[in-house]
Amino acid sequence: MTSLNPVMTIGRQISETVQVHLGLNAAQARQRAIQLLADTGIPAPEQRVDQYPHQFSGGMRQRVVIALALAAQPQLIVADEPTTALDVSIQAQIIALLKRLCKDQGAAVMLVTHDMGVIAEACDRVAVMYAGRVAEIGPVADVIHRPAHPYTVGLMGSIPAMDEERERLMQIDGAMPRLNAIPAGCAFNPRCPRVMDRCRSERPDLLPAGATRAACWLHDAQVAA
Ligand code: SF4
Repeated sequence: MTSLNPVMTIGRQISETVQVHLGLNAAQARQRAIQLLADTGIPAPEQRVDQYPHQFSGGMRQRVVIALALAAQPQLIVADEPTTALDVSIQAQIIALLKRLCKDQGAAVMLVTHDMGVIAEACDRVAVMYAGRVAEIGPVADVIHRPAHPYTVGLMGSIPAMDEERERLMQIDGAMPRLNAIPAGCAFNPRCPRVMDRCRSERPDLLPAGATRAACWLHDAQVAA
């Protein structure tokens, strides 16, 4: 919502990126800006290209930012909470648009989000982060349905299921540590219901855990044996 420069037209912002990265002249860059706006579903792109960000709705501005991200034909787009502050129906449209355009252009997307619903809908693989490190990584369906790290188990357990009646949802006791006071050993150990002595002194690397990999001593071959 605030990524666009409010005193430059949409067309100039896209053209500038295209000219710097692809070496096109001004007329070619303007044509590419119009094409990108059309690709992202902006109606009447020939007129809209000369308008300013405040003349666009929130969802339209998000489409313009996607056009801007794709303008220089990247191989990878890092999208940090791309649907925050948009209402739910617009969120679904934006995620579908991002997926379609990146597939068409052969670009990968790294989506950074706290919204497990968006992850389930949009992603192939997911990395669950805790205190700045990957706690678990693997195919989305496996991480969601068969979580291997106690933190992922807690996260999934805290999401209400539509087909299940429960008095209480699972809760992860305690709070996320401050990044300048991360506990020794496994960072999750003060909150982990399955903590062992070793967890308080040795930090686990990612270990194979079924179809995923989890940074947890429960998946150490010696513990499992
Ligand atoms: S390493 Fe230990 S404290 Fe950390 S998640 Fe696994 S069992 Fe829990």
